[in-house]
Amino acid sequence: MDSQRFRSWATWKDEFSGNLAVFCSDERFVAATLEFLRRGLDMERCDLLVVAGGPAFIPQSEPSLIERLELLIKAHKIERVALIAHDDCGYYKHRYPQLAPEKLRQQQHKDLLAALSALRQKGIKAQAFFAFVDGGDVVFEEVKG
Ligand SMILES: [Zn+2]
Repeated sequence: MDSQRFRSWATWKDEFSGNLAVFCSDERFVAATLEFLRRGLDMERCDLLVVAGGPAFIPQSEPSLIERLELLIKAHKIERVALIAHDDCGYYKHRYPQLAPEKLRQQQHKDLLAALSALRQKGIKAQAFFAFVDGGDVVFEEVKG
């Protein structure tokens, strides 16, 4: 970096795609998730709402995050949302310390379905996915509501 400024190579484009992705901040899944959005879902561009636990805040109706979600939906005219939860999520382990891994996955699926229906009620095209590691690769499987 030269002096106090860093100049990005990314091309500036002053428009919104209407896409939003909501996923967990867990760095182990971030690169694979960004690739999945581009190559798997054709979301070349999208807004990101990245927070520990990912879409969990939607069924839990966490006011501050719901407020930001609503703001993005309105201000950036969001029409399509991808919700992604992942296996071995620290947020879920922290929130439900008594649940065994299989029960945690069930809880995550339940939360994804609840988030899907909340978004669909707003007229948004939403899809949900569960990411897990298989043979060293991250795999994204659709969770259908
Ligand atoms: Zn996580």
